[in-house]
Amino acid sequence: MKVYFGGVRGGGPMTEPTCNEFGGDTTSFLIEGDAGERIIIDAGTGLRHVQRRLASLAPHNRAVCILFSHYHLDHLAGLPSFQPLYEEGWNIEMAARIFDELTVEDIAASFVNPPIWPLHIDELKATKRFRILDDESMEATTAYGGLAIRWCPLHHPGGSTAFRIEEPASGASVVIATDVEWAESTAEEHRWLNELCATPHGADLLVFDGKYTADEYPAYRGWGHSTWQEGIELARSTGVKQLLITHHDITLDDAAARTREQEIQAAWPQAALARQGMIWTPAG
Ligand SMILES: [Zn+2]
Ligand SMILES: [Zn+2]
Repeated sequence: MKVYFGGVRGGGPMTEPTCNEFGGDTTSFLIEGDAGERIIIDAGTGLRHVQRRLASLAPHNRAVCILFSHYHLDHLAGLPSFQPLYEEGWNIEMAARIFDELTVEDIAASFVNPPIWPLHIDELKATKRFRILDDESMEATTAYGGLAIRWCPLHHPGGSTAFRIEEPASGASVVIATDVEWAESTAEEHRWLNELCATPHGADLLVFDGKYTADEYPAYRGWGHSTWQEGIELARSTGVKQLLITHHDITLDDAAARTREQEIQAAWPQAALARQGMIWTPAG
């Protein structure tokens, strides 16, 4: 299994040269199974880098599953221009929980639709399939090829979803938890994410929304995001092997990010800030 980071920014994209190292595109990750499975998590503006990666990996593999953590714009803005949607022969599955009584099909049909976009999603040539993820999934597992997917709800305005992707053949596992406000989460929400990280064993990688520092957080309570310190605490207490902090604020330029990363690594050497374009593989 590999994880490719197409975009790691939260809120909105930035294009200033001062963010070249960590990247300016919003959330989109690609989980690459060893048997050729492709699972995209979120369709932020980083989706266009994921699209390029898909083309370079295996141009004849034209099946992909997009899981949406939630429907905030920074996780959706790349969808209308996702090139495979326009090409015959592609099989694109889109899956998410219901938010505000809207399914993933409702969202795709209203977002890839005039006047927001020139075309309606039904006019695009790819074969599309929509799937509703239920809320009772802690024990259930959904398979996508050789990858097993579990998820749990996260505390965030309007709700969000964490995913755990496992590859039984290689033993690799990764948990993606963006966007989440840990300090405001209920005991039940804490338990769900703890279990997702820890069961059946500590994940190889946790990708966690650590948009703030502990010092910054009090001014943003209720905004739906966590601190990198909370990410480290969660990773260590659940036996996670490596942590990558994501959902960087648009005020975090490369110089500030490098300073922050030094603090993060001083706190826990197995943690770092996610960078756009990086490819994670499980430690041998
Ligand atoms: Zn976000
Ligand atoms: Zn959000």
